[in-house]
Amino acid sequence: MKWTLLIFVLLFSACAELTRYPANTDEIRHVVFDIDWTIVSEIKEGHKVPSKRVIEVQGHKYFIAEGLEEFIQSILDKKDVKISFFSGGTLVRNHELLSKIKLKDQRSLKDIAYKVLNFEDLVTVDTTEGVPFAERNKKDLTKVSKDLDQLIMFDDTYNFALETKVPQNNNVFFIGSALEHFDSFKDAQGLTGKYIPVSYEQWLLNNKKLYILNMAFNEAYMESKSGNITFSEAMKRKEDALNLKSHEWNEVSEHYYKTYFKTAPLKNAQDSFKCAEGMKLLIGW
Ligand SMILES: [Mg+2]
Repeated sequence: MKWTLLIFVLLFSACAELTRYPANTDEIRHVVFDIDWTIVSEIKEGHKVPSKRVIEVQGHKYFIAEGLEEFIQSILDKKDVKISFFSGGTLVRNHELLSKIKLKDQRSLKDIAYKVLNFEDLVTVDTTEGVPFAERNKKDLTKVSKDLDQLIMFDDTYNFALETKVPQNNNVFFIGSALEHFDSFKDAQGLTGKYIPVSYEQWLLNNKKLYILNMAFNEAYMESKSGNITFSEAMKRKEDALNLKSHEWNEVSEHYYKTYFKTAPLKNAQDSFKCAEGMKLLIGW
């Protein structure tokens, strides 16, 4: 009897061990996108309007970030991942904006969204006048899903998630403060401001950010499928490794770029530009 009991206990623990990991991997994962300066950038008054990918919503012009449709499609291809949007813009504005961004199959981002959360869904934590908007109002990610282990939000605003109910900053992938969009780095030259790219490399990284995030997402997704790490943890490791807030390329961002585009990110474009100018002078153009 003693031996039977021992064998039963051993068998039970072995089975429990075997069944623990797969239970994690089939859960629904959630990707949440902020809208302003994450998937679109507003075109500032007087700045050169990009030649394409521009939509107009409530009198404002927005550039649709490069690589957005490819990123969304790559998430949609995974049947256990849902896409939501959470923005400080109003419901009317957000719905109109998301309806104007179309995928190849003509569905809009509003059509494919699991949830669209708006200004009306923010939680007010401070009403002091003069305090910045994102410090007074917070995004409660549990409104998208209660299972925060399997949720990540891409946001250009640091610290926009609600921390008072349950800690949620571990569910925010800070993509760095976004710079204004310019079709070419030359269009930004001569302009000054906090959000103007100051080098060709910075301009390129800002423009290609979503392709890089697409690669990071795909890797983190696969890692989370192994069952050894949650989806949010895997994404947060990518956030650290990419360090996009620095606005500088590193080995990881270069590797993702190279894998996606099959070519290394261009460097020293300024030098090649100067060289071309020099050649023109030399041959008298
Ligand atoms: Mg934003």
